[in-house]
Amino acid sequence: MSVPFLDLSAMHAACGEELQATFARVLSKGHFVLGEEVEAFEHEFAAYCGASRCIGVGNGLDAIHLILRAMKIGPGDEVIVPAHTFIATWLAVTQSGATPVPVEPQPGGYNIDPQQIEAAITPRTRAIIAVHLYGEPADMDALRSIADQHGLRLIEDAAQAHGARYKGRRTGGLGDAAAFSFYPTKNLGALGDGGAVTTNDPAIAEGIRLLRNYGSRVKYQHDIAGYNTRLDEVHAALLRVKLHRLDEFNSSRRLVARQYLDGLSDIAGLQLPHPAPHTEPVWHLFVIRTAQREQLAKALTERGIATMVHYPVPCHEQGAYRGGNFPPLQATSALSKEILSLPMWPGLDPAPVIAAIREILR
Ligand SMILES: *Cc1c(COP(=O)(O)O)cnc(C)c1O
Repeated sequence: MSVPFLDLSAMHAACGEELQATFARVLSKGHFVLGEEVEAFEHEFAAYCGASRCIGVGNGLDAIHLILRAMKIGPGDEVIVPAHTFIATWLAVTQSGATPVPVEPQPGGYNIDPQQIEAAITPRTRAIIAVHLYGEPADMDALRSIADQHGLRLIEDAAQAHGARYKGRRTGGLGDAAAFSFYPTKNLGALGDGGAVTTNDPAIAEGIRLLRNYGSRVKYQHDIAGYNTRLDEVHAALLRVKLHRLDEFNSSRRLVARQYLDGLSDIAGLQLPHPAPHTEPVWHLFVIRTAQREQLAKALTERGIATMVHYPVPCHEQGAYRGGNFPPLQATSALSKEILSLPMWPGLDPAPVIAAIREILR
């Protein structure tokens, strides 16, 4: 009995024929960059998120970077980021020329702690990036109130949270702009790289449309020094198929999470995720915390059950940020040694994983 960490085959079996037919349609149309599939996906995804606009881009990292550019955030500016996140959140800030200023997660949780943000704000601070880590929405009302008080932009990194809700509203429509990734393992994944920005701000949307396509509105006329980072027609078309099933896939993840929570709740020394009651997470990852992380992971591997760590080395301890002038980030460093991601995908039967953990930690 072996359980992989992630298995997309059930999901792709459910819509495989439709994906094949869609690929054939794009191939026969013969138009591959910035055409009607991207436009249709942009409309459909904006509507899904409850935002007025969506702009397809090349990947999630570029989505965050282009948002910062469109907001004219750059050298000399500071951007508040979660200390505990995937490094793309930080790298996007670094690419813009601004400085990432990390803030630790909420005690007992994984998302940025609004209560620790004000101490990190300086006259140079321009924005807060909220990451909905592991698929659980960050505390957006608290973040909005801090952002408004200090005249800051509020950006969502929603790369792990397609479809998640905060007080009934979907991620992607909760901040001034939101970045999504369609990397294949995300809740909504392309069959390659892809990304998008959603926003209700027409100026940001227009800025990103320019930036993603060589700064060009009219072919061979370049108003600004832009980039080449576009969502391909083929990926947009395939994403339209999967978007129709996203809620179905997310409810399947929710069922898996429910089973994990019920099956593991009585084990001492195991900290389970406990999302805020006003949120509806989409369980991109199911992350537990235990001081015996190494032993547990090893024993699970021996039983054929794959696990991962998201993330084993915090951003501020990475070579990329060596020499950075960061405050002590003890909570984040401690987390990275105790967290463990269990197998999670739509259609997974978590019973063998639960049984194995119970046996190991008995
Ligand atoms: C995946 C991810 C990104 C980056 O997306 P890519 O498409 O891989 O560039 C950014 N932020 C978070 C939190 C992610 O999980």
